[in-house]
Amino acid sequence: MSEHTHPAIASFETDNAGLLLGGVPLERLAARIGSTPFYAYDRSRIADRISYLRRHLPKQIHLSYAIKANPMPAVVQYMSGIVDGFDVASALEMKTALDTPMEAEKVSFAGPGKTTAELAQAIAAGIVIEIESEGEMRRIDDLANETGIRPRVAIRVNPDFSVKASAMRMGGGSAQFGIDAERIPAVLAEVKQLDMDLLGFHIFSGSQNLRADLLAECQEQTVALALQLADVSPIPIRHLNLGGGFGIPYFPNDEPLDLPFIGDKLHTLLAEQIEPRLPDARVIIELGRYIVGEAGIYVCRVVDRKESRGQVYLVTDGGLHHQLAASGNFGQVIRRNYPVAVGTKMNWDVEETVSIVGCLCTPLDLLADKVPLPTANVGDLIVIFQSGAYGYTASPTAFLSHPSPLEVLV
Ligand SMILES: *Cc1c(COP(=O)(O)O)cnc(C)c1O
Repeated sequence: MSEHTHPAIASFETDNAGLLLGGVPLERLAARIGSTPFYAYDRSRIADRISYLRRHLPKQIHLSYAIKANPMPAVVQYMSGIVDGFDVASALEMKTALDTPMEAEKVSFAGPGKTTAELAQAIAAGIVIEIESEGEMRRIDDLANETGIRPRVAIRVNPDFSVKASAMRMGGGSAQFGIDAERIPAVLAEVKQLDMDLLGFHIFSGSQNLRADLLAECQEQTVALALQLADVSPIPIRHLNLGGGFGIPYFPNDEPLDLPFIGDKLHTLLAEQIEPRLPDARVIIELGRYIVGEAGIYVCRVVDRKESRGQVYLVTDGGLHHQLAASGNFGQVIRRNYPVAVGTKMNWDVEETVSIVGCLCTPLDLLADKVPLPTANVGDLIVIFQSGAYGYTASPTAFLSHPSPLEVLV
């Protein structure tokens, strides 16, 4: 490996046979699985990430895992023993969460467009519904009246600020998420008349942020807003979800998030603001990508090697139908390569510059564009790193009707 190797690649163990995952050489793992392509998630890397979070975040923080980042049941089952809660976004994610030992009261359901059937299931299960609109609030109330079960709810707030440098912003301005902050006093007055167990607030502003200073600033603003809303709340706040949005480094100039900095700032916020004024609040940080993203790899096999007008192509049995994000999401403005390696030739000298493509009939099916690699041949395994989150389930697996990739937790 050269000194330019992406830290995500360098953090994996290797031996002469190539990449090791949970101590097992990649080719042996592929033989056990029986076919390529596949996703493999390493539980020890997930556990290490949780320990790292626990070391730096205040001990009072409840760590919730956002299941949509990676809903593989084995992953969620494993996660249930090491996190404090789950965030779900659909009825099936709710079922996956409730199939684990996690208590229902530590599962929360956020997301716009919850159907009446989903709301009814959530109420029956006793999980916390994060209300996304006033219409949703009234539908919950109707269901409560029909069933006689008192719903447990929190209000998702669309803040009056937005977090800068998030790859995906979900708050500030006009949004389909949450209820506008300025509407909250009126909504609280209405909730007070309804037979609902209002627990508190959820304020989530964005995703994939690598700037610790901006994340800390956002958390400060989030707490300031929560305290303002708590002042007009008819009930003491028992649930305060501060969101998350912690990013991971995908591209060459991305720096890993400065977690100790965020931890320090959160210690201060808790000690000086939250604990004195909201002593009953369970303070939650919900993360998906940061917990699982770096624990997973996508593996496909070279089925053809060809040259076209001076450019070498490694043609694989994988592609954008399995790993959409690595291909650039159907054309992002500037396409950049995910960290990639020849998993069967990890410590070999870099000898050529190649493009790695998938088996779909579209030029967008590009997994890596002109990357320096050791010489790979038909049969070698290609590894795309940083694939543990928003991989399999965020890809159009039905496109071109190839088989879906398998998934394993090692
Ligand atoms: C998607 C989502 C998350 C997880 O985001 P990550 O960037 O994967 O950490 C957390 N909370 C809510 C409300 C979400 O919609």
